[in-house]
Amino acid sequence: MTPTIPYIQSCFDEFNARFFASSLPPIPIKLSNARTFLGKVTFTRRRSWLFGPLRNENFVLRINTRIDLPEDLIQDTILHEMIHYYIAVNQLRDTSSHGRLFRREMARINADGNRHVTISYRLSKEQLLELYPEKKEQIKAYFLRKSKKSSNFALDY
Ligand SMILES: [Zn+2]
Repeated sequence: MTPTIPYIQSCFDEFNARFFASSLPPIPIKLSNARTFLGKVTFTRRRSWLFGPLRNENFVLRINTRIDLPEDLIQDTILHEMIHYYIAVNQLRDTSSHGRLFRREMARINADGNRHVTISYRLSKEQLLELYPEKKEQIKAYFLRKSKKSSNFALDY
């Protein structure tokens, strides 16, 4: 399916209530046509005064609409981005971009909600061909070489 802004908004509201006690503030949602991510939370970091602490602000949630994905995966992508948002909007520190705190929240949500949120999603050959039609021959050659090992290609989100 191809998600719309109202659809993403309703998922956000539902997941916010269910997994974050409705603590996440509203966030602007944008659709993205990028080929390099399924979802992304962007923000800026600045000091409100010269010696003040660095604060994260101007958050935007972006969800990819370029590839046709199953609804479950779109929802897991929204949840993945909501974990990034939860950490950043609360000015929490993690050990890395998908560090201990991120993984703890991911495990909690997967267990509580019977979800399958992951750190990175692997694209199938068909999805890669849809994304990169101009690289058809390279993709085919890649999967021919890889056929005995993994049949997938990782994409971070
Ligand atoms: Zn991520």
